[in-house]
Amino acid sequence: MTYVIQEPCVGVKDTACVEVCPVDCIYETDPREDTNMLPMFIHNEECIDCGACEPECPVDAIRVEDEAEDRWLQINILLSEEQDINGGV
Ligand code: SF4
Ligand code: SF4
Repeated sequence: MTYVIQEPCVGVKDTACVEVCPVDCIYETDPREDTNMLPMFIHNEECIDCGACEPECPVDAIRVEDEAEDRWLQINILLSEEQDINGGV
């Protein structure tokens, strides 16, 4: 299980969730033209499911995996894999 960041984060990215994550597993994509439409993402293998981030989000973008839209779950996982390979997205 993991938590997932969804579309409402795009354009906000205030990092309120990052401040409370005890394992620092919430990342931002590098600011390139092709990542402008992506939200912050949660590393699916690093997240310990503590739930601390979810109530901090001002735009209600964070969901536990079971309640997230599949496309945003897959995007968070893909970005996590890129992070592992490249040390960044
Ligand atoms: S659920 Fe906890 S560990 Fe997972 S991203 Fe949120 S704050 Fe971090
Ligand atoms: S708190 Fe919400 S809007 Fe802010 S960076 Fe995290 S997911 Fe994005």
